[in-house]
Amino acid sequence: MRSRSLLALPLVAAALFVGGPLRAESGPRSSAQDADAPQHRRCKPCGTTGLVACGDRVHKGVDLDLEGNLAYCSHVGDCDTCGGTGRVDCERCERPDAAERLGQMRARRDAARARHAELEAEVERSLPGGESEHFRLIWDLESMKVGRKRLDRHELLHLFAERMEAVHARYREVLEVEESAIPDRSAMAVWWLPTDHDDAARRWCGGSATMGVKRMGPKPFFSVCGNRSHFADDTDLHRYLVHNAAHLILSNHTPQQWMGQFKGAAWYDEGLASWLETDLGGGAQTWCFQEQDARGMWGGGKWRVALRKLVASEAAPSVAQVLQRDVNALEMVEQAVAFSLIDHLIHRDAAALPELGRRLKKKEPVRDALKEVYGLSPLTLESAWQAWVLETYPKR
Ligand SMILES: [Zn+2]
Ligand SMILES: [Zn+2]
Ligand SMILES: [Zn+2]
Ligand SMILES: [Zn+2]
Repeated sequence: MRSRSLLALPLVAAALFVGGPLRAESGPRSSAQDADAPQHRRCKPCGTTGLVACGDRVHKGVDLDLEGNLAYCSHVGDCDTCGGTGRVDCERCERPDAAERLGQMRARRDAARARHAELEAEVERSLPGGESEHFRLIWDLESMKVGRKRLDRHELLHLFAERMEAVHARYREVLEVEESAIPDRSAMAVWWLPTDHDDAARRWCGGSATMGVKRMGPKPFFSVCGNRSHFADDTDLHRYLVHNAAHLILSNHTPQQWMGQFKGAAWYDEGLASWLETDLGGGAQTWCFQEQDARGMWGGGKWRVALRKLVASEAAPSVAQVLQRDVNALEMVEQAVAFSLIDHLIHRDAAALPELGRRLKKKEPVRDALKEVYGLSPLTLESAWQAWVLETYPKR
């Protein structure tokens, strides 16, 4: 379903990077900003945006309608006519602001192109990918079935951008986080060949593993081999990427630090990543620190139902134990409880959660941080959480 909305992405979405909606006439005129906006004669070819797809032959075979959510897309290529933005001035209408917007798009595109070129220079070959507002992306999979439709590499790159931006937006929305609190773009690479993943992981993430590898903190970087031997389908891969994007964003959220390495903070790191995975991926199945390839379902894929059963049968691990777990020792069931504790704290006061995270990154004991921020001890959290789970989580 999401892919359909992406593929219908109109040309006007190019406004994303240059601020303000372009469709001044088509939407309801309600805001004060609209009231001040100049009137423009309706123009069908450009949707009254003043911009149309570039007709230069260098883009032959490239679907420029996809452009809009990437500042730079390697598939558009370099072009003297449009400067590689895929957009030119509409000749059928007059929008004095179009030239200025095009100028901004070109400047942004050039800066993003230069950053992408740095990666290419290191590996001495071109890399399929680009840059969205908050992510540097490499997408190497040739094609993949999404829902009922098979998408090609270019379509998948834009879908990837849309999905990762959704993680960033949801993180900021739910936790009420300022844009400036997450200073760096997160880099994410999805490879077809295990050898390319291995090379990228060693080069940019400082390590290697069969599954995903991430560098956390400042300028976070994630690499994974996304082929069928690791991910059965798009849903599987989507959840995994959402989960890892959440880790990168959390680690880049100031103070830029990977909290998962600290005892007493692993539950927060994994719990929040699984929470966003559930929220945006429709379920959670990613285990960062279990045995390689020991991914897959816990609780039949329905965590809230399974957690309710666990609490009802008094079989849940103690909250005090989950809060103190070392990241490498976090059992599947403990990660599910961590997810649920985050779920509960979001329910209590979502905007306070980043302050708790900040304290955990500063190695403040979890017991003290919890008391200061939420006024809870591990024991009072446990009883409140259990009652809330029994009251609100579904039975099936
Ligand atoms: Zn593109
Ligand atoms: Zn062009
Ligand atoms: Zn026009
Ligand atoms: Zn994780």
